[in-house]
Amino acid sequence: MVKIDVDTCVGCGGCIDLCPATAICLVNDRSCIDVDLCLECLTCVKVCPVKAPQVV
Ligand code: SF4
Ligand code: SF4
Repeated sequence: MVKIDVDTCVGCGGCIDLCPATAICLVNDRSCIDVDLCLECLTCVKVCPVKAPQVV
């Protein structure tokens, strides 16, 4: 499962634009993944500049 570390996310939105499942949205300027939609492709993990998305 992929989760966003909200203390690390800076809300740049880069992962949202690239998620193939449109599983990520911003909540209070931080990314939030809908685990029911996530395909676990790990694109967000690779593209995030601050490594906020993490496999848990
Ligand atoms: S792992 Fe892939 S499908 Fe899941 S939230 Fe990240 S980019 Fe979207
Ligand atoms: S790419 Fe990283 S810093 Fe930017 S919104 Fe996504 S998780 Fe947050």
